[in-house]
Amino acid sequence: MDTVIQTEKDFKELLKEQNAYKETIALTAWDMRTKIPKKGVEQRSEVMGFLSGKLHQLETSEKMKYFIDVLKDHSEDAIIKKTVAECEETYERNRKIPSDEYKEYVMLQSKSESIWQEAREKDDFSLFQPYLEKLVEYNQKFANYWGYEDHIYDALLENYEPGVTVKTLDQVFPDLRKSLTALLDKISVSSVQPDPSILEGHFPKEDQEAFSVDILGKMGYDFASGRLDETVHPFAIALNQNDVRITTRYDETDFRSAIFGTVHEGGHALYEQNISKKLANTPLSGGTSMGIHESQSLFWENFVGRTESFWKSHYDLFKSYAPKSFQAVPLDKFYRAVNEVKPSFIRIEADELTYSLHIMIRYELEKGLISGDIKVADLPKLWNELMQEYLGITPPTDSVGVLQDIHWAGGDFGYFPSYALGYMYAAQFNHALKKEMNVDEQIASGDFSPIREWLTKNIHQYGKMKKPLEIVKDVTNEDLDSKYLVDYLTEKYAGIYKL
Ligand code: ZN
Repeated sequence: MDTVIQTEKDFKELLKEQNAYKETIALTAWDMRTKIPKKGVEQRSEVMGFLSGKLHQLETSEKMKYFIDVLKDHSEDAIIKKTVAECEETYERNRKIPSDEYKEYVMLQSKSESIWQEAREKDDFSLFQPYLEKLVEYNQKFANYWGYEDHIYDALLENYEPGVTVKTLDQVFPDLRKSLTALLDKISVSSVQPDPSILEGHFPKEDQEAFSVDILGKMGYDFASGRLDETVHPFAIALNQNDVRITTRYDETDFRSAIFGTVHEGGHALYEQNISKKLANTPLSGGTSMGIHESQSLFWENFVGRTESFWKSHYDLFKSYAPKSFQAVPLDKFYRAVNEVKPSFIRIEADELTYSLHIMIRYELEKGLISGDIKVADLPKLWNELMQEYLGITPPTDSVGVLQDIHWAGGDFGYFPSYALGYMYAAQFNHALKKEMNVDEQIASGDFSPIREWLTKNIHQYGKMKKPLEIVKDVTNEDLDSKYLVDYLTEKYAGIYKL
């Protein structure tokens, strides 16, 4: 028994060492995306490669293997048990890929990203095609190394949404798609349409920032454990629980990207700031999956930030920062305008309803690429066909079509479904929350703390102690079900479009 306690202590030391690398990598990544001078990028990329290599060595070391073997069946401590299981998964996944293949792959990734950027700028898919073919091949190989039960793509999904498989997605996506397209059809022929032109007007950056900071504070974002900066592509990043940073983007002609974007990233940050301190310095101290993370950001962005109740209680505050042109806009018109639904080519600009349709297109295509049913050369054509089928529009160029996202260029196959899962999780959580409190009244009161506390109690605190579908089951007493998202959107748009 004494040896187990001593081994646990030594194990924690190794975790601390790993964490030192993780935190340094995160800080370096933050700097590279916010402040780094252009000429510093090359050297810094090498430093990042070096640090990641060191971390990888620790995660797959003999020492780690020893701790896993000793503690796996002998530790009595629940957190250590889960930590060991997490370390073992990482160990196994990393060890299964031959290191020379992994190095080649990392080089291919960074090369592909720059080629993709060029291809997008020149609107020339053929430049990117050979790289994408290689990326697909590598991912097929890795999936085979990792192994899977039913579908090869499951092995990749496991990286982002552990426990979710093709079977899970093929159960929920078709129904969701049918319901969303039916709703979209009704909306597009409705005689009542919002007027987004009322949202136009020059809105100084400082004022957008001041409003965003006010809202973040109300959400419970702890500025003593975080900061807000400006970037082209907004993101949230956790260095540790006491240092969770967010960034946003200000467009002085359209406040929506900054305000809803900040609330979105704030939702990600609240998750990381409120993980139980007991998990500090373990690999469990982080969001459990991309999808659950997205559920938290989307919850705040949409289920709080885009509701009528929110604007009822915050419209005066908003107007105190907004330009004069907004003073005469009635609340109802404003609320309807910020919730406009309109099929568009670009995923990241999509509204709440059409967003998941963009995701399902990517899911079908990457699933086919990885299984070998779809050839990379056919992607542009298939992309456009699915856009027409799902959203009723065809992109005029590949730049605003198949070339728009960076994910595939970075080798991230299996990531996209997390976004749509995030919407479904969020809606299902919202349904559960509504059983416990009058959410509309709570939002309208302007005091979000009971909502934030509920999310912490049910989701945040666990970090990676629970897998995504386990959280869904524990919080809602049900398995994942797309009907909650459909019900929510149906009710919401019935009001806005008078359906
Ligand atoms: Zn997000």
